Amino acid sequence: MNSEKIFNAISQIKISIDQHKDEIEKLDQEIGDGDHIFNIQRGIKESLDLKDELSGQAPNEVLKKIGMKIMTTVGGASGALFSTLIMSMSKKYNGELSDQKNIAEMFTDGVEAMKKRGKADLGEKTMLDVLIPVSKELQKLSDQDNVKYIAEKIKESAEKGMLSTKNLIATKGRASFLGERAKGHIDPGARSSQLAIEAICNTIINT
Ligand code: ADP
Ligand code: MG
Repeated sequence: MNSEKIFNAISQIKISIDQHKDEIEKLDQEIGDGDHIFNIQRGIKESLDLKDELSGQAPNEVLKKIGMKIMTTVGGASGALFSTLIMSMSKKYNGELSDQKNIAEMFTDGVEAMKKRGKADLGEKTMLDVLIPVSKELQKLSDQDNVKYIAEKIKESAEKGMLSTKNLIATKGRASFLGERAKGHIDPGARSSQLAIEAICNTIINT
């Protein structure tokens, strides 16, 4: 892991999110207030704007500064939650571990912090329905040497989690105001998280 790889991952996420802009916007119009795509694109832009300044810095510093930037510039539940995820990941960074182990530990801590921050857990029709299964899968596979295999498995896990939100009722966030009417709609945060994870996995698979 290094600053270049982190920014490369964010650039890949940007491509996929931009390609799915209309779909994500529609999902949040259906069960939220429609601003999710704006919040996500803003976070990506603010992060990429730090590229030159943070080039060559240690991964934990890069992640901490990106997290702080998102916290101060991105609105909505997702701004606060993603900044929590990224800043907690930065604290757990340990350059002595393999990338597999390191990322598994960082991501697990980040997701735990996000759960606490949003007082939410699995099955509440949020992005945690993608992020929690992915963190479990990362832990399970952290001894595996074949990173392409890990990436394939993580991609599957994220997709399954995203699809699982469709028939849930929401108990957290704006969609919870809709009760049963939220059923039949995929959660926007789950979709954007899944697309982000897929973009990173595809970069690993295709190199
Ligand atoms: P807002 O809901 O404030 O308009 P966004 O539209 O940017 O913010 O983000 C909405 C997404 O945030 C939802 O689709 C859901 O995935 C996620 N979300 C909302 N509340 C929580 C929570 N308490 N924990 C985890 N994720 C949440
Ligand atoms: Mg919204």
